[in-house]
Amino acid sequence: MIFSWNEDQIDLYQQAAQFARTKLNQSIIEDDENQQFSQSRWKACGEMGLFGLTIPEKYGGLELDTLTSAFMLEGFGYGCKENGLFLSMGAHLWAVATPILLYGSEELKQTYLPKLTSGDWVGAHAISEPQAGSDAMAMSTHVEFKEDYVILNGRKTFVTNATVADLFLVFATSNKKHGFAAISGFVIEKGTPGLSVESKASKMGTRTSPMADVVFDNCRVPIKNLLGKKNLGFKIFTRIMQWERGLILAPFIGAMQREMERCVEYANQREQFGKRLAQNQAISGKIVDMKVRIEAAKLLLYKAAWDLDHGDARLSSSITKLWTSDSAVHTFMDALQVLGGYGYTTEFEIERHLRDAIGSKLYSGTTEMQKMIIANEIGLKT
Ligand SMILES: Cc1cc2nc3c(=O)[nH]c(=O)nc-3n(C[C@H](O)[C@H](O)[C@H](O)COP(=O)(O)OP(=O)(O)OC[C@H]3O[C@@H](n4cnc5c(N)ncnc54)[C@H](O)[C@@H]3O)c2cc1C
Repeated sequence: MIFSWNEDQIDLYQQAAQFARTKLNQSIIEDDENQQFSQSRWKACGEMGLFGLTIPEKYGGLELDTLTSAFMLEGFGYGCKENGLFLSMGAHLWAVATPILLYGSEELKQTYLPKLTSGDWVGAHAISEPQAGSDAMAMSTHVEFKEDYVILNGRKTFVTNATVADLFLVFATSNKKHGFAAISGFVIEKGTPGLSVESKASKMGTRTSPMADVVFDNCRVPIKNLLGKKNLGFKIFTRIMQWERGLILAPFIGAMQREMERCVEYANQREQFGKRLAQNQAISGKIVDMKVRIEAAKLLLYKAAWDLDHGDARLSSSITKLWTSDSAVHTFMDALQVLGGYGYTTEFEIERHLRDAIGSKLYSGTTEMQKMIIANEIGLKT
């Protein structure tokens, strides 16, 4: 096992951090307040290559291995203070572009991947429904197969990027009674008759990342937009969730690192009762806990990224997601406490990180669902 990065990897980490720090950190407080998605930040990320990390060069990507991509995303998070972008980017990258790469026909790859990797288009992934959240395979959205097209009817909910998306990756069932064996996945363009976006949600955190319902009313989709084969949806969903769970929180690890360093600086200079905050073990202990959580999260991230390239990441991606989401919430809560009253103010931006982190315990499968997957993987008869 080699525990070091090569010069190219370090360079990519630093470039991503520097890009984010200098180009992306303006007017985030206002955008958070107004729940505003930034098209210009999105486009800049595309130009930087961040939407094409693991995508082959022939489709406009950087063709990096997954471990290097994860490290670059960590660097991005170290520089970027807009956590909503992490979520929008994660959904676009791991739950739309990657499944098209892994399961799409050559025609689908050529049509959509260059638009997604450049950032000209935004992708959204729609599986959750009002009555089928954690139990996603209990979905009701129905697909009827005709000769060279399909007809979809139903409603998806909590769809990240829905209001700004150009392409939707949607799962539907051809027979609800057959459960996971009747699920198929499709890519559907914005503007397809019968597809509409409704009920934009107002949320606690990641407010710059829009979320809404997607409704299908006799929506006719060409059969060539089927991902993989008919009824292969469960397999596709299971595999792409490994990508999403393993990698979606990589930028949060960089963000935790940055906020920990800020706490070190603050605790070393702020004095109360005639001594530095750092001299109180109650405070330094919190910052040490941050460091331990971050180091563990990094190793889990790298393991999941390595597994994604070399085999099955079912267990490692769930452990990574579980640990990193919990760690982010605890780290930002501790950071807020270290910064005292200032930490509670909007200007200090830590309260926003805390609000943003809480959502990570819900999307891509809740904390409870990750524990259920881990329990199954270690042989517990659940
Ligand atoms: C910020 C955000 C972004 C999202 N983005 C997307 C997206 O892009 N696309 C998409 O399709 N969906 C998205 N979702 C939806 C997300 O995947 C669901 O919220 C999640 O799967 C949980 O479903 P639910 O909200 O219906 O909760 P429920 O499934 O109703 O669960 C409610 C609570 O009960 C727990 N629970 C449920 N069943 C069990 C069980 N058997 N054992 C123990 N505990 C259980 C859950 O863990 C949870 O705590 C997003 C959600 C959020 C918050």
